[in-house]
Amino acid sequence: MTAETEINRPQLVDGMGRTIVNLRISVTDRCNFRCTYCMPADNVEFMDRVKLLTFEELTRIATIVSKLGINRLRLTGGEPLMRKDLPSLIRMLAAVEGIDDIAMTTNAFFLKEHAQSLKDAGLKRLNVSLDALDSEKFKHVNRRDCLQQVLDGLQEASRVGFKSIKINAVAMRNFSESEILSLIDMGRSDGFEVRFIEFMPLDSDQAWERDKVLFGHEIVDLIKEKHELIPIDNSLDIGPASEYRFADGKGKIGIITAVSNPFCDHCNRIRMTADGKLRTCLFSTDETDLKQLVRSGASDEDIAEALKQAVLIKEPGHKINLESFERPTRAMHAIGG
Ligand code: SAM
Ligand code: SF4
Repeated sequence: MTAETEINRPQLVDGMGRTIVNLRISVTDRCNFRCTYCMPADNVEFMDRVKLLTFEELTRIATIVSKLGINRLRLTGGEPLMRKDLPSLIRMLAAVEGIDDIAMTTNAFFLKEHAQSLKDAGLKRLNVSLDALDSEKFKHVNRRDCLQQVLDGLQEASRVGFKSIKINAVAMRNFSESEILSLIDMGRSDGFEVRFIEFMPLDSDQAWERDKVLFGHEIVDLIKEKHELIPIDNSLDIGPASEYRFADGKGKIGIITAVSNPFCDHCNRIRMTADGKLRTCLFSTDETDLKQLVRSGASDEDIAEALKQAVLIKEPGHKINLESFERPTRAMHAIGG
């Protein structure tokens, strides 16, 4: 994009003055894992497939949001690689004028076989969820015994040339402490930025308690026992993570203090569920039904107006730390993390 088109880009601004540039698109609520912090162990009710937005519908919505000012997309789920022929969708989205960046969050189970085609289709960045390098702990938290498959997926993504690969680990007390340094060692040697995300109350099991969250400051203290960390000034590129680089120059880490110090004031994202419901916050209790508009013949202008109205009343922030906090009825896999 030239400097001129950057200046002329429209802006999607919410009622708090935050500029929204990022849409996270869930492509399915299905998943082959059953992570304890996200899904129940069994008896999951998935959306009827006819409710899922088609690739053409998703591309139409991406085209509309790009004209409103959104230039970054992230595909998520459920497990996005459970959606058949995902590279075709990526190719369609990458061709939308104004979309500069397409990323994906994945559990990496299917990554080994798809890394090359995803890269060829135009996927730029990858976040891989990996909470433990100890295979027993992996099996416990993901309820699947396939650590090696995930590691192979990561290596293949690296081999095919993805420049930005981040590892997301959910930080849980009495679980993550023993994994933090080994995840960091792997990240430092293989060139992945490891990011720790405080466990949020979005698990289907509803087992979340504040005491089960390993807080960001505790993670930093633990890492500092072994490594000198230098905070990175991210004031120009505000993302959800506080980042630190290692004083020896070998890599960096991120901490997402979603519970203890949320980044809501700088939030620049909105989400769409696989069945086409727009959510202006991970913790939204209200949704805007874009699928209904798309399938009832609404014009692009009508859809754009619905989007703008929803963004205008985007929640100031989540209320996890307040008495009035209400858990969303959808669990993480059905929202799109
Ligand atoms: N299946 C893909 C994966 O796991 O990467 C994408 C969807 S998953 C819902 C997206 C991200 O949400 C993952 O990084 C996962 O670790 C994170 N996540 C899920 N439940 C969470 C929770 N209760 N608290 C914090 N992060 C959570
Ligand atoms: Fe599946 Fe991702 Fe949820 Fe784990 S976090 S159950 S991999 S959707």
